[in-house]
Amino acid sequence: MKAILDHVGIAVKDLPAALAFYRDALGLEIEAPEDVASQRVRARFIPVGGSSLELLEATAPDSAIAKFVDKRGPGLHHITLRVEDIHLALAQLKQRGAKLIDETPRPGAGQALVAFVHPSSAHGVLVELKQPGPRQPPVDGRPRSSAISRFRLGELELISLFDGFFELDGGAMFGVVPKPLWVKQTVPDEKNRILLAMRPLVVRGTRTMLIDAGLGDKDDRKFHDIYGVDRSRNLDHTLAEAGLTRDDIDIVLATHLHFDHAGGFTRRDATGRARPAFPRAQYVVRRGEWDDALHANERNRASYLPDNFMPLAEAGVLQLVGDDQTIMPGVKVRRTGGHTMHHQMAIIESGGQTAAFVADLLPTTAHLPEPWIMGYDLYPMETLAAKKAFYEEAVAKNTLVFFEHDPVVTAGHIREEQGKRRVLPARPES
Ligand SMILES: [Zn+2]
Ligand SMILES: [Zn+2]
Repeated sequence: MKAILDHVGIAVKDLPAALAFYRDALGLEIEAPEDVASQRVRARFIPVGGSSLELLEATAPDSAIAKFVDKRGPGLHHITLRVEDIHLALAQLKQRGAKLIDETPRPGAGQALVAFVHPSSAHGVLVELKQPGPRQPPVDGRPRSSAISRFRLGELELISLFDGFFELDGGAMFGVVPKPLWVKQTVPDEKNRILLAMRPLVVRGTRTMLIDAGLGDKDDRKFHDIYGVDRSRNLDHTLAEAGLTRDDIDIVLATHLHFDHAGGFTRRDATGRARPAFPRAQYVVRRGEWDDALHANERNRASYLPDNFMPLAEAGVLQLVGDDQTIMPGVKVRRTGGHTMHHQMAIIESGGQTAAFVADLLPTTAHLPEPWIMGYDLYPMETLAAKKAFYEEAVAKNTLVFFEHDPVVTAGHIREEQGKRRVLPARPES
């Protein structure tokens, strides 16, 4: 079992006095309080490096924290270890005779699942196991979110899904921008890689469309190591959270065929053969992008993996579109070029409102400044022109922009004030 120190819990009796020490005297930043109703406590997390301190205050006299403070006074209450699979961890402990306070996990702060192990089995320390929820604390100082979010746009429902995190070289992600500038926006790991998410988008209207599908599950361990892939939460989880099955998807739309967008288009069957992963769907791909993927060159070959798209043609579910057009009511594609010659974004309109799924035109909110263009882009001057044109439109129409690779921000509006642009993150409906 792999476990990481998540936080140290401290039972507090006099909160203002505790804040005077941890916040004011130590100068630490304290996150917004969170109530854990099931335990009748209010928790305040204080990030310290890769883990946190958690100040715990009872909200009712019968809370375990109130009883603890009455009996022993305030102080160290528990340590929390983060595990990937809490059910498996509990089964292992039980098998070895550990005394468990919780035989099955219960809900904890931040939508996590938690379970306590009795101090008698842990040499006098109350140990909490935790399987993180979608809102995760920063790991190695890097904030992240794997949550799904729902937005209403006129008649349409937009659901941003999640297929995992991966990492790419920070230098390559910001092209000509010097590292001293981009490290202010994002934190690289020891291999100089920055954290990225994969967030496909569902559009529900007269039909149900999925735009891009993340990395999928066909890749081996070596690939996962190179690209720092973490799919412990992936499209299977987030589709289910959205109340959808793979059979619900009528149309899969590709912005382009790079593996972090098209990998999830196919899955291996029992014989190991890659087949379409959405059994009822028609897959819509731009013709020029299809031709380029089939005739990859030395520069782009590593991004185009034939198992991600060849099975679509073999299964007869491929629809090639030649130019900008409406794919379903409310959803149009528009070529941006730049990243690849035929890279396209999706413009979504309903009830007088506009959203845009811009894919690798603007992979993260950090790419907002015009010259912050990925080194991966084949035609960076075209990206520059496409960004300028898009900003003008997005500001004028108050477009809700989806950031497919941002590790935290799912969607936001671009604001322009005194010649400066920024992204105002949008608050999802749930
Ligand atoms: Zn790409
Ligand atoms: Zn990408």
